[in-house]
Amino acid sequence: MTPARRLLEALRTAGATFTVASGRLRYRAPAGLIGAEELAALTKHKADMIGLLEEEARRPARPPGPCELCHTSTWRWHPDFPVAGAGRWLCAACVGRLVPSVRDVADTLSVAAYERLLDEARAGDPLALILVDQLREARAV
Ligand SMILES: [Zn+2]
Repeated sequence: MTPARRLLEALRTAGATFTVASGRLRYRAPAGLIGAEELAALTKHKADMIGLLEEEARRPARPPGPCELCHTSTWRWHPDFPVAGAGRWLCAACVGRLVPSVRDVADTLSVAAYERLLDEARAGDPLALILVDQLREARAV
């Protein structure tokens, strides 16, 4: 994690909010949060923080509902998934379960097993829909 991201997350956790307006970093923070030390850090990392905030503004919207697999809403942005720079919201609760990788699974599926998975997806099974989508992406990469 970069110093700018660490600073941004620490101050957000403490209640600060940040925006970029006309290329300038703006913040709102609870009284007493931004002292001389924090102000010096903000000044030092201003350009990187503006870059982070602009990158956040370009992201697609966070998924509106809970994860279809685990029903939590612990979405976390992964800027380099599935490939560097692509970015995707992934469920923090489920992301640790992606072992073996979808590509590993795709390589072991028989034609019959893949057809059965497609049938389940066509029938609307949410897990099958996600797997089919992920398998298509894994095969396309
Ligand atoms: Zn989940």
